Amino acid sequence: MGTFRYRRVLLKISGEALQGDQGFGVSEDMLGQVADQLAAVQRAGVQLGLVVGGGNFFRGIAGAARGMDRVHADRIGMLATCMNALTLREALADRDVPCEVLSAIPLGTFARLYDRDDAVGLLQRGTVTIFAAGTGSPYFSTDTAASLRAVEIGADALLKATKVDGVYDKDPAVHADARRLEQLTYRQVVEEQLRVMDLTAVTLCRDAGLTIRVFDLFAPGSIMGVLRGEALGSTIEGGQ
Ligand code: UDP
Repeated sequence: MGTFRYRRVLLKISGEALQGDQGFGVSEDMLGQVADQLAAVQRAGVQLGLVVGGGNFFRGIAGAARGMDRVHADRIGMLATCMNALTLREALADRDVPCEVLSAIPLGTFARLYDRDDAVGLLQRGTVTIFAAGTGSPYFSTDTAASLRAVEIGADALLKATKVDGVYDKDPAVHADARRLEQLTYRQVVEEQLRVMDLTAVTLCRDAGLTIRVFDLFAPGSIMGVLRGEALGSTIEGGQ
């Protein structure tokens, strides 16, 4: 355990990471890859909290664009995150990894209601703790939910796993000369409008002095590398 830089982390996975290239829902292959990585982290003794998005099923903003009431649309989005959380729990249970889902909204017998002290207790016992239903409030994103839960549980870092290997000065999909920024400040992210996470999420981390690590979830060994403190992806910290 001594070789890890971070003892307790909050990992944010987007819903899209689970859908793979099938365009909707959960790809068995992607789910398996993600669950294998998470199982390795748990077995290594790192305390792991997870926030999973819901964009592979539904996003409130897209519903609102089609004329739905935004608050009602966001409720559907939050339920989408619950489906992903319950799916991930099953994948981890298949791998004999202790795992619990804590939801920001009551889900009856499906999952426990989120309670911060309960979450910390679970993490201390080595249980992977999945935070479902975002913040429980509309007009927020699961990035913000991830920042909030990370700060609440006293995580050593917020790990934002994405499809690209870090933060770039311009969109690498469009610009061949885009440069990856290895080390940057919260202020830089805000002022240069770098597309890492929404501003609410970034400012929450800034105010709490919580380090954000951005990296490619599917690069082999990426999560473990970040946990060991290797200079992978991009690190956002300092300069408040
Ligand atoms: N959502 C919400 N409040 C929250 C978190 C999420 O209303 O605190 C809703 C919102 O509609 C959002 C959807 O849940 O579009 C799915 O979350 P998100 O878009 O962040 O998922 P991701 O893009 O990470 O897959």
